[in-house]
Amino acid sequence: MEKTFLMIKPDGVGRGLVGEIVKRIENKGIKIVGAKLMTVSEDLAKTHYGEHSEKPFFGELVDFITSGPVFAMVLEGENVVEIGRTLVGKTNPAESAPGTIRGDYGMTVGKNIIHGSDSVASAEKEIALWFKEEEIIDYNLVTAAWVY
Ligand code: GDP
Ligand code: MG
Repeated sequence: MEKTFLMIKPDGVGRGLVGEIVKRIENKGIKIVGAKLMTVSEDLAKTHYGEHSEKPFFGELVDFITSGPVFAMVLEGENVVEIGRTLVGKTNPAESAPGTIRGDYGMTVGKNIIHGSDSVASAEKEIALWFKEEEIIDYNLVTAAWVY
């Protein structure tokens, strides 16, 4: 089974959207195998967004992601990296369809509510960066028989 990493950013947590977002994930049929509310160190923020270190918005992005608690999750399911990105929507909320998280709750690219891994390779990297092995739980959902 594939795993992905989703993280509700400080704007999503601050606006009280954790429950709404978790509900969408559960309703979709995705299994949550790890979850925690946490603050993000500058080091973690810079490593996580390392691919953007040369971009003009990098400083602003690191400041934003460290500005308040985030809700980090590891999700499991068939094709869950792609399905997670579909639930999240496009980077710019203006281009995200209604029904997506960014399309329904976001207004600007700088405060777009949630992060989702963009490939299986980055999901593996991000899960290892954000979660300890013992924080990821192996269990069965009885509903899986109706999802797969
Ligand atoms: P994502 O994979 O859809 O999250 O998008 P990217 O990997 O391209 O960018 C990472 C994050 O950087 C985005 O989710 C935004 O929060 C932020 N970001 C991207 N472009 C901009 C920008 O032009 N301005 C600002 N302030 N933030 C940006
Ligand atoms: Mg990205």
